[in-house]
Formats: sequence, C-alpha cells, structure tokens
Amino acid sequence: MKDFSDEQHCRDFLVQQRWGGCPECPYCGSDKWYRIENGKRFKCGNKECYKKYSVTVGTVFHASNIPLTTWFPAMYLITSHKKGISSVQLAKDLGVTQKTAWFINHRIRESLKDKGSSLLGGTVEVDETYVGGKLKNKHNKYRKENITKSNDNKTTVMGFVSREQGLKVKVLDSRTEIMQSVRDSVDTQAKLITDEAGAYYHAIKEYPNHEVVKHSQNEFVRGDIHTNTVEGFFSHLKRQIYGIHHFVTAKHLQRYADESAYRYNLKDMKDGERFVFSLSHIEGRLPYKILVHGKSNKESQ
Ligand SMILES: [Zn+2]
Repeated sequence: MKDFSDEQHCRDFLVQQRWGGCPECPYCGSDKWYRIENGKRFKCGNKECYKKYSVTVGTVFHASNIPLTTWFPAMYLITSHKKGISSVQLAKDLGVTQKTAWFINHRIRESLKDKGSSLLGGTVEVDETYVGGKLKNKHNKYRKENITKSNDNKTTVMGFVSREQGLKVKVLDSRTEIMQSVRDSVDTQAKLITDEAGAYYHAIKEYPNHEVVKHSQNEFVRGDIHTNTVEGFFSHLKRQIYGIHHFVTAKHLQRYADESAYRYNLKDMKDGERFVFSLSHIEGRLPYKILVHGKSNKESQ
C-alpha cells in the first residue's frame, strides 16, 4: 500500500505490467512514443497518428476521476478478502463515498470475469443451484428487476469444476438452458459428473463418460464420483451473497459469481501475487451507463 501512495509510481508500475515497460499506441499499435505532460501521458510517435494516450486507456481504470492511488488499494482489498468486501466497508477502507466504492467494486468485479472461452476437460463436476427468491419482503423496485422465467423467482446458477483446470460459473436466464450451458462449458471428452436431475438425463448421448451420483438413493460419494467440490463452491458463493452483500439483483449476479469463482481459482496464491495477476486483467472496462442501466449508450469519454 505504501508503494502505491504516489500516482506517478502507480502509472509506472502499470506501464511495466501492461506493456513490459514499452508503451504501445492503442490507436495504431506503434511502439514509438514520447512522454508528455511531465510523464503522465504519452504521445504516439507515428506521424500518421500522433494521438495522445495514458496507460489507463482501454482499462477498467480509464476516464474516471478516481486516481490509481485509490484503484490499486481497492484491487488489493477486493481480491484478497476471502468472501469479497461490501461497498460500505470498501468506502470506509478507501476513504471514498459509498457510491464511488460501489462503482469501483463493480468495475473490478467485471474485470475479473472469466474471459476464456475454452471448454473444461478432465474430470468435471457439474451442478446447479438456485439463488434469491422470497421476494415478498423486498422493495418493489427489486421485485421488478428479479422476475425470471422460473416460477419461484429464484435464479439458476450453474457451476462447473474441472478437478484439473479450475472452476467456471454461469448465471442462467432460465432452467431450460441448463444442458446448453453444459455444452458451452464442458468438452464432450470430459468425464462429466452430475446428480440425477432431469436436466442431465440425456447427457450420456453427448458425454459418453457421464457419471451420475444418485442422491435419491442416499449415494453421495462413489470412489471419486461425487459433486462435493462444486457444492462446496456454491455454499461459499451463497455465504458471500447473503452474508456480505445481503441481497444481489439477478442483473448483477453473474458479476458476483465471477468474482467468487476468480477467488476460488486463485485461492492458493499469496495476496501480493494475486494483486499483480489481477492487474493483468484490467483491459476492457464497464462504463457507468451500462452498469446502471444495463445497456450501452454511446460514451462521451
Ligand atoms: Zn498511434
């Protein structure tokens, strides 16, 4: 934290992490550059281009009035708390307003999202869980946002744990998407382990190595055939959602789930290593308008 109390120091650190110390023009790709504005920004050295840019361009840190001296500690705090951190606590720790903390929390969460599209292989436990519900006690505004196609207002969350490759999590719009989400996440050559829920009934046709745990016959473990790992992740996710954030709208659930999955996948890393690793995920940002309204308005930034 002490290392990152100086804005220019943070910028230089990011230049190292992002570009290996040698800036690359985000507009034309040129690796010729000058430092301008006392080293705060760069100017492209390609005379066809000559555009100015900063090290935060195209990252989650870009075009906010929030300095890196706030973003960096935030990234550290968010990625090192075992169950995540609430915006209220983050606001206190960073000395910013709760609205700012909420925005930071969501942007960082979005950046931690699994961007890989590769299919999981090896031995893969698959299970679904249901989050939310009991909406009659909630404010009307939240009730409206939470109407899903399932009839009890719970949102379906799928978990996929490859024992060799790590975990992915996917929030569904409807229970009818369960099998499709398996196809989108798990290689057909994988050893697929599920319970006997109806949604997986025909999985054997596509996944020849499908193993089923028969919970109805009081079977929970048969050798290495079980879904305990993915169930363990779900209880961790629910503790995070209900314990730290108290309530999450369906709209934001994927982001919370991704954050939880990210933490799970990096649980053996030390806090400092995880922070540096996380900085490599900062490209691609979530504009405030998309975050709040769920749609893309043309940005003025
Ligand atoms: Zn350029």
